[in-house]
Amino acid sequence: MQKIKNYINGELKESISLQYIDNIDPSRGKVYSFIPDSDERDVELAVAAAKAAFPEWSLTPKEKRSKIILKIAALIEENLEALAQAESIDNGKTLALAKTVDIPRAASNFHFYGTAILHYAAHAHSMEDTAINYTLRQPVGVAGCISPWNLPLYLFTWKIAPALAAGNCVVAKPSEVTPMTAYLLSELCIKAGLPKGVLNIVHGYGHKVGNAIVAHKDVPLISFTGGTKTGAHIAGVAAPMFKKLSLELGGKNPNIIFADCDYEKMLSTTIHSSFSNQGQICLCGSRIFIERPIYEKFKNDFVERTKKLEVGNPFDEKSKVGAVVSKPHMEKILTYVDLAKQEGGTVLCGGKRATITGEFSEGYYLEPTIIEGLAYDCRTNQEEIFGPVVTIMPFDKEEEVLMYANSTIYGLASSVWTQDITKAHRIAQNIHAGIVWINCWLLRDLRTPFGGVKSSGVGREGGFEAFDFFTEPKNVCIKIK
Ligand code: NDP
Repeated sequence: MQKIKNYINGELKESISLQYIDNIDPSRGKVYSFIPDSDERDVELAVAAAKAAFPEWSLTPKEKRSKIILKIAALIEENLEALAQAESIDNGKTLALAKTVDIPRAASNFHFYGTAILHYAAHAHSMEDTAINYTLRQPVGVAGCISPWNLPLYLFTWKIAPALAAGNCVVAKPSEVTPMTAYLLSELCIKAGLPKGVLNIVHGYGHKVGNAIVAHKDVPLISFTGGTKTGAHIAGVAAPMFKKLSLELGGKNPNIIFADCDYEKMLSTTIHSSFSNQGQICLCGSRIFIERPIYEKFKNDFVERTKKLEVGNPFDEKSKVGAVVSKPHMEKILTYVDLAKQEGGTVLCGGKRATITGEFSEGYYLEPTIIEGLAYDCRTNQEEIFGPVVTIMPFDKEEEVLMYANSTIYGLASSVWTQDITKAHRIAQNIHAGIVWINCWLLRDLRTPFGGVKSSGVGREGGFEAFDFFTEPKNVCIKIK
């Protein structure tokens, strides 16, 4: 069986412990490869390599950095098929989704930041005839980048690409649950001619490798995407060391549907925003609020359409719902379905493990689940489930639905469906979220700020915001008189 390797100082290496963790294919419920069980000794090597590479990389002209980064983008595109296959096997997501979303977006991340760096500029502030100030935007040093399992290569590269383009060196850790495409990326980086030590990828557990990166004194900047609890832990370690921190955390996003919406567009998009990637996208709309006049119609149509979604073999084009990422995650989701029932909810469809026959019978498949009859403030409606489970609730008034929408500790994304432009703007202004999609979902322009408020995170990724994070501004003041 294949053994994944760390990528340190330009080479593919085993971990110092020589120990491995099983890598499970969730679509079959079987071990299919091994992940290095790295620890702080491997992180030490990676940080040393990154530190040594930093002076040269940070002074490499941005045009040259850009060329290498664009080469990585091109290699991802050339290897789209193999990377999509690997992502689908590792994560359980449908191959169709990996091919159309995950891998193209990973290439776009490199492409976008490889070109954006050529246009990034700092400010100058004139003090009339007394002095002139200019701002130097300098790379920070070794950036620690830690990412989750739900969109493995997509989110991993969303951090690495701007960090490298801005002139930092990187020590990165993908989720140990889905390490394969990060490993394949290290091979592509070698092919692209990325100088040794500029990017280092250390595989292994969060509590060992992740912790060691966050706590390392020579890593002054941490970019993390993952759960809110882990984010709080990381902030607790990094803040007293005065590290720069970007935290992209959990969500419990509202999908607000008014009676005057374009019904067909809303319904087909709501199927996607509820169940894409088995509901394991931090931006999925898991709480659906429907204006009362169309509640019954929506409920019937939504349940009927959801029941038609084919669940199973992620490599079959007919499948719309693949496997969830792991057995423990599947069990966690099912616990929430039980909780919803205890809280008085009615399961309108799904609510259990899907029965799949043949080769995929041991995989972790769940039926897409719709629950109604719950209060907006019960645990099911307040806690992140991160699976193919949504709740539906009627509302009568705008103020009422805003109160429901804003009632959680989270504030990542939201969707609003209405043809009334004034109402749409009003809701957008008053909703507590980093992103408001009006009459759409997951429409992304990479120049826009991306991130959440409240317990959904601190800071913004995307566009030049990412360069602002991955550089340190320095004010230079010159007296001219
Ligand atoms: P986790 O928080 O469990 O893990 C995220 C990453 O952090 C993994 O690589 C993990 O390693 C690592 N990690 C775990 N413990 C530590 C630690 N003590 N120190 C440093 N690193 C650590 O999240 P999941 O992987 O379960 O991802 C799902 C979560 O991510 C959801 O809450 C989801 O909402 C959120 N998310 C947020 C997004 C956003 O943009 N706001 C986007 C996508 C997901 P290991 O795998 O070994 O545990």
